Amino acid sequence: MPIDREKATLALDGPVNRVRLVSPARAKALEKLGIRTLRELLTHFPRSYVDLSSVETCASARIGETCTVRGTVHEIKLKKPRYNLKLVEIAVTDGTGILVVTAFRQPWLMDQIKAGDAVAVAGKVIFDYGYKRMTNPFIEVIGEGEGITGAVVPVHPATEKLSAAWVRRIVANGLEEAEGAFDPLPLGLRLRYRLMSRAAALRAIHFPQSMAEVAEARRRLVYEEVLYLELFLMQEGAERSRDAHPTAHTVNGPCVAAFAAQLPFALTGEQERARDEILEGMAAPSAMNHMLLGDVGTGKTVVAGFALAAAADTGGQAMLLAPTEVLARQHAEGLGGLLAQAGVTCALLTGSTPVAERASITERFAAGDVDVLIGTHALLSDDVAPARLTLAVIDEQQRFGVDQRTRLLAKGEAPDALYLTATPIPRTLALALYGNLTLSYIKHRPHDAVSRTTRVLRREQAGEAFDAASAALSRGEQVYVVCPLVGKGAEERDEKAAGKQSDADAAGEEYHPAVAIEDADDFDDDVTAATREAEMLQRNTFPDYVVELLHGGMGTEAKREVMERFRAGEVQVLVATTVIEVGVDVPNATVMIVEDADRFGLAQLHQLRGRVGRGTKAAEVYLLSASTREESLARLAAMETTDDGFELAAFDLSLRREGDILGNRQHGASGLKLVNIMRDGAVIEAAHADAAALLDVDPDLEEPDHRAMAREVRLAFVGEAVGG
Ligand code: ADP
Ligand code: MG
Repeated sequence: MPIDREKATLALDGPVNRVRLVSPARAKALEKLGIRTLRELLTHFPRSYVDLSSVETCASARIGETCTVRGTVHEIKLKKPRYNLKLVEIAVTDGTGILVVTAFRQPWLMDQIKAGDAVAVAGKVIFDYGYKRMTNPFIEVIGEGEGITGAVVPVHPATEKLSAAWVRRIVANGLEEAEGAFDPLPLGLRLRYRLMSRAAALRAIHFPQSMAEVAEARRRLVYEEVLYLELFLMQEGAERSRDAHPTAHTVNGPCVAAFAAQLPFALTGEQERARDEILEGMAAPSAMNHMLLGDVGTGKTVVAGFALAAAADTGGQAMLLAPTEVLARQHAEGLGGLLAQAGVTCALLTGSTPVAERASITERFAAGDVDVLIGTHALLSDDVAPARLTLAVIDEQQRFGVDQRTRLLAKGEAPDALYLTATPIPRTLALALYGNLTLSYIKHRPHDAVSRTTRVLRREQAGEAFDAASAALSRGEQVYVVCPLVGKGAEERDEKAAGKQSDADAAGEEYHPAVAIEDADDFDDDVTAATREAEMLQRNTFPDYVVELLHGGMGTEAKREVMERFRAGEVQVLVATTVIEVGVDVPNATVMIVEDADRFGLAQLHQLRGRVGRGTKAAEVYLLSASTREESLARLAAMETTDDGFELAAFDLSLRREGDILGNRQHGASGLKLVNIMRDGAVIEAAHADAAALLDVDPDLEEPDHRAMAREVRLAFVGEAVGG
């Protein structure tokens, strides 16, 4: 029977439950992984691969080395050596000897593995209590009919309810379902770069014969991702100014002058230059697309304040979008306060604004009576309809998706856009990624002369950190204690457990916890740990001071109250989860202690330490780590070596992950899954040029050869509903 290509193509965006073996229960588990459609299933790429071609036996596996061992499960049991610690111990035999596998915090393995199963385990071999052992290795039941064709086993991200083996099976069925779907990439481009067909690439990336094949598949898929992104951004840019009348802002009006006059400090030279560059862009009669890059604490907010004042001077309106409630509120109070004194009317709108107040704010905003509306994602909703939006500012833009930016900008007629970010990105890449983007850089913090030191301490040295905290408290300064993320979701535990087997590429980005704590659905354990920590610190360590707790699970009002009291100095020690990660600004806080620092990514640690050293006083950061793993200690040591986020990024590729820069890590835009901003720099630039050339001859991608591609772009970045 001939394959119906049309049908196979449409099936891609049909629900995933059409795929064989996807029961309603599994569909639910897949949804947890963000998979609702067949397309999403097929782009649920393996996070690593285990190369079974280099298998050792229990006898030949060398102590201290990483290898794969295949064998049979002799015995599997669940142990509880301590309250709240569960581990699964598995004895694997292969006729030459025995290997003892210990898997921490993955009790579900008990349901997935039973005695007699054939398994492959991969990890570092150690020798302890008389046995060769592996701790938290990659472990997989090797069964029949899973689609594994070569000596390479893909490891797909999995959940407690859906093991990697099951995901693999379902993906294999999904590939069959999509058999024959059209390749949307024009043949000319495929030939020019010698790219695999999409079908071949998908098959190869999920079930490769060799690691070389993975690289080829990746090359094709990355090019495709980036090309669609470029097409999307360029079309969006053109759309934004088509038939629209961008605003040429007045940039030397009374509000700008009043705002400048009452700043409590003088701008640094770099801030002045950034301000001038932004105002110049706003004065021009075209839609500005400007990014202000500056490391954490370099004073980007106040620079953005000038832009907001200029919008008011022009008789326009502005919106300032921030990723968290704490940050939006801080902007409303700090920046909003300064603007108000300069004659600019500001208002704050967040998800927790009471209904009646919200109605009154949106009404005033729609009537043009509010100049600057500051807020969180709430700003994106339809009832927020400005009368004349001429400027949109996005703070911490890496936290937002491409689609969210589009939604914000659509609220005005070709408004100017200003993005603030602390994520380092080389200029050439920024230009390739954003097209007509202009950039300003701030490299130094305003109080650069003030020192901020970072030290990594082992658990037993923690006393030094708490002594430093006590000293600071007795000088009247304040302290942050950041608590570990013990209660990560199963997915991440899983990820961590398999971290050691990641392919070489992933080595630098091995563990990068999701940052959106406020969105996380499971942080009960975090909260318990943080609560206990706060109690302990209050009772034993800082009995003479007020210790308070701040975490993402608290109600808005409670969070606000704690932050306010900390800001006012009524609370001296703030025990917090990563809710304080972005933006929070309390200059009198000078010491930060991060517990279990090895559980955080470097980017996150750098954001965290940016909370201290913001005033005129020297700051100290202590990173406590119980880890003995050399890689994680070496990673932390980079934090000691440099205090500069841009330099730090040179150490650590994970700091430059595409999601950080493109801002699609966790929201909407599902079109980018593989591209890596550093490694794929050349691809990005090529795709940029190709996209420009394509749009030159066919601006709406209407030629027959381009239509499939146009559809893909829409699907990837605009996000169309799942078909029935
Ligand atoms: P970020 O760039 O991380 O958003 P902020 O805008 O929050 O940094 O600024 C960090 C701190 O530095 C704030 O307390 C701010 O008031 C202060 N600040 C900004 N510019 C200056 C300056 N020129 N002189 C002194 N302090 C400044
Ligand atoms: Mg900021």
